[in-house]
Parts: sequence; structure tokens; C-alpha cells
Amino acid sequence: MKVTFPHMGYSHIAFKMLIQKLGHEVVMPKRPSENTLSLGSHYAPEFACIPFKILLGTYLEALEEGAEMIISSGGVGPCRAGYYGILHEKILKDLGYDIDFLVLEPPQKKAMNFVKTLRKLTAGNSIQTIWEAVSSTWLKLKVLDRIERLTYEIRPYEINKGDTTRAFEKCLDVIDRAWLKEDITKSQTRCLEILSEIPVDKTRNPLKIGIIGEIYVVLEPAANFDIQNVLGEMGIIARRSIYLVEWTKDNTFFKGEEHIKKAAKEYLQVPIGGHGILSVGNTILYSRQGYDGIIQLAPFSCIPEIVAKGILTKVKKELDIPLLTLFIDEQTGKTGIKTRLEAFVDLLYSKRQLRQGVVL
Ligand code: SF4
Repeated sequence: MKVTFPHMGYSHIAFKMLIQKLGHEVVMPKRPSENTLSLGSHYAPEFACIPFKILLGTYLEALEEGAEMIISSGGVGPCRAGYYGILHEKILKDLGYDIDFLVLEPPQKKAMNFVKTLRKLTAGNSIQTIWEAVSSTWLKLKVLDRIERLTYEIRPYEINKGDTTRAFEKCLDVIDRAWLKEDITKSQTRCLEILSEIPVDKTRNPLKIGIIGEIYVVLEPAANFDIQNVLGEMGIIARRSIYLVEWTKDNTFFKGEEHIKKAAKEYLQVPIGGHGILSVGNTILYSRQGYDGIIQLAPFSCIPEIVAKGILTKVKKELDIPLLTLFIDEQTGKTGIKTRLEAFVDLLYSKRQLRQGVVL
């Protein structure tokens, strides 16, 4: 069976291995491009949110390359995430694609559905094979997250612009080639070595920005115009609130987001779908940790982030923390985003100088 799945950050490197270990052929999802978005937008309902359109475009590209099965993650309301899978499947079937569409729903909400879907994917494999495939994939995802996270700490200090990005590309290749668990562990050690060789200037004192918002646009660099790298090359430490491994743990068996929801409580007590409540809570936590500013990434027409934005207007005033909201849709362009980032960063520098008593 030729299997494909969404492109989200760098997770495709680990999911490729999982699918192969379960005995399927992989049709690699392409990094979303203008073509992906215009394909998705063409067939999606007009007011669908941008992650929906990008995923649809990604599936259509993979189907053209011969994919027969699509594996996607589901979601729960109250926003539209709960209907993603069903609607994608309907659109693709209406277009004449005869596909197996597997939606992995959150196991704590729809346990039977989760087990049934897993069974379809793992059919014909021994428990031992399945365990090895799943546990090594989990390990690879953890290594990918750890190495990616480190690059955002190094990039603002790099002496030669682009060194960190080039080193990270090398790392992705090293991690991609690791197959067994011991190789994956070794790949992490090798990547740490590669990153440690980047010449840095540790005398710099970078600004710190926290990135919050809807999961897909936060995790997928192609959807957010490489915002963390762009900020890193501007000399800013840009940390984001969501990483796939943590998010999966928090949304399956652990309640790791409780402290974020607790932080949000003064302003918002009920979930509003998507990552709205987390956007509010994380802004408060970043502010307490002394961050210089916050950037909210929101798909255009994403109700949870629109509601969060309304609440954040009050939060930013009361906590005196600058906030920039970037709504992303088909019309958003890299140049426009860069200009807004530069203006925001200038504002943060002026604020820092005022704090330090520098007369402007
Ligand atoms: S969180 Fe926002 S972007 Fe994601 S499905 Fe819900 S409404 Fe759409």
C-alpha cells in the first residue's frame, strides 16, 4: 500500500520510517508551496481555514504521485478541527479518488476509533514489529524536536549568517538515515556535535520572543514563512509554545497543559477550541518569564485564535507585554510578514532601551 500523511514541521522524517517499518511504501508529502495552497484553495470551501487548504493541497499532490492511503490526525471541537478528516475524505472521494482515509482521533476521546485505525495500518505485523516501529518513531520524533529546538537557541548568536540552517539540514539528513534505535541515539550525538561546531558570538544579548497560536501554522515553517529562522537571523531568540512530542503526550495520556490553562484562568476559564486557551495561558507564562514580546500566529478565520486575540488585547495592556498578531491566509506574503516583524523588533528594542534608561 502506498501511504502518505500531512507535512508538519520535520515530523515527516520520523513518520516515513514508521510507515516503512510497518511494511508500506511511502509517498513523501512535499513541503507546502504556493502550488499546494492554490490546489487546496481551489477545492476547499471558501471559508475553510488555511491549515485545511494546505493539507488538502498536500493530499492532492501525493495522490498525483500514486498515494493510495492517507493517514491524518483528527481533532475535537468546538472549532472546525473535528470535521477536518470527514470533509477532506468527502472532497477527495467526490473528485474521484478511490482512497483509504485513516483519521487518528485523540485516543482519550475516541479510544475505539483510535484502535480500529491503528489495526488497519498495522495489519499483518507482529506485536514485536509494531512495538519496534512505534517506539523507534517516537524516539526519532524526540530527537528531531530536540535538535530543532536547539537551532533556535544557536541561530541568534551565529557569526556567519546561515551556518545554523546549513548545519540543521545536515542534521536532518543524519537523523533521516538512522533506522534502529541505537542509530537514532547516535544520530542525536552526531547532531549535537555538528551544532556545537557553529562559530558563535556569546557576548550578544538577544531579545526573546514567544510564539503562540494555532498548532499547524506554529509547527509548519512553510505556513508561517519560516518565522523562527527569520527572527533567529535577525538576532532574536524565538521560542515557540508547541512541539509535536510534547503536544502528543499532553493530548493523549498526560495532562501536561494544565499549568498553561491555570495561567489563563484569570482571563479565560472555558476551552474555546483549537489552541485558544493555550495562546492566552502561554502569553501570561512568557510574560512572567521576562520575554520581550509575543507573536501570535493565527489562520485567517480561525475562531479560537480570534477570540484569544480579543482577550490578549487586555492581557498585553495589563502585563505590559508587546504582542503582534499575524493572520495568515492565501494573500499573505513573505515580504509583508518580514516588514511587520522588523517594525515589531524595532519596537521591542526601543522598549528595552527605555527600560535601561537610555534616552532615545
Ligand atoms: S483551530 Fe482554527 S485553524 Fe485549526 S481547525 Fe480550528 S478554526 Fe481551523
